[in-house]
Amino acid sequence: MQPPADATVLALDLGGTQVRAALVRADGTRLGRAAAPTPVADGPAAVVAACIATLQLARENATREDAAAVSRLVGIGISAPGPLNPWTGIAVEPANLGPRFPGTDLAGPIGAALGLPVFLEHDTKVAILGERAFGAGSGIDDLMYLTISTGFGAAALSGGHLLTGPDDTALELGHVPISLDGPRCSCGGTGHLEAHASGWALAAAGATAAMSGASPWLANWESTHSGEAISAKTVAEAAAAGDAVADEILERALLAVGRAVAGYVNTFNPVRIIIGGSLAEAHWDRLAKRISHEIGENAFKVPGRRVSIKPAQLGGDVSLAGCHPVVVGRLGNPAWERAVAINKAAK
Ligand SMILES: [Zn+2]
Repeated sequence: MQPPADATVLALDLGGTQVRAALVRADGTRLGRAAAPTPVADGPAAVVAACIATLQLARENATREDAAAVSRLVGIGISAPGPLNPWTGIAVEPANLGPRFPGTDLAGPIGAALGLPVFLEHDTKVAILGERAFGAGSGIDDLMYLTISTGFGAAALSGGHLLTGPDDTALELGHVPISLDGPRCSCGGTGHLEAHASGWALAAAGATAAMSGASPWLANWESTHSGEAISAKTVAEAAAAGDAVADEILERALLAVGRAVAGYVNTFNPVRIIIGGSLAEAHWDRLAKRISHEIGENAFKVPGRRVSIKPAQLGGDVSLAGCHPVVVGRLGNPAWERAVAINKAAK
């Protein structure tokens, strides 16, 4: 049975440093917020216990704020870093939750403790569904979502369907090469977009420019900030202060994103591309201009004219709000149940 139109959902955002939970109403508003540190060092069982306690606290808080909304709860959505298996609710290889985490069943114990069905999904896929339901992608079925922060994440809807592949690893666009000769990526690959355009890539390029002396501003920053590491923000500060090498590092990263996005226009023919993440926010005007230019130069004319580029609207709460469409879109949906059955049979 499909959930009623006014169904509410408990949402959990499982991050590497913090676990956050809230109740999400059908209009996307959040209440009953709760949060706790993610006890990564204590292992998977402690992390699962922290998820359960935070969800229970959010449900209690929400009951005080709006008991009627809690009475309409139909399920739990979990937004987590990938790779993960959305059909079985098991974490596969989340890089920021420690080496003992792969293979941890998240949906099973959390569902048993809270007495509700649980749906686990990759954070970028939660985000695209959240932006389509409540943000910058309202009503758009051919939609892309990109996030540029420490890493580079992506998700896409085609005809309203999430592109996943049989392993849910499709759309790892940060790990598609855009150059033949490097640099080396954090995943071990060569010339990947994430190695050109991400928080860690900018920080690494900044550190190299400081060490070689090519960037006097960054070299000076390093000598006056002992024990601190150059970050993407430091590189942006150097560029804003007029350091030509730091500005070139930033410009090359934005060019890499622009070129890649022009390729996505040709590959996916999206109606809209939503871009979020701290790096995109910090340099939005420059990034948007660069992307428009690269689409004009490098994409086919018809999809290039159709696509619009918009900043993400929901900010950090996208991973909570997006749990609502994840849960109500899957609960009692025969197509989802078939996908679950196929995936479990294949194991
Ligand atoms: Zn890579």
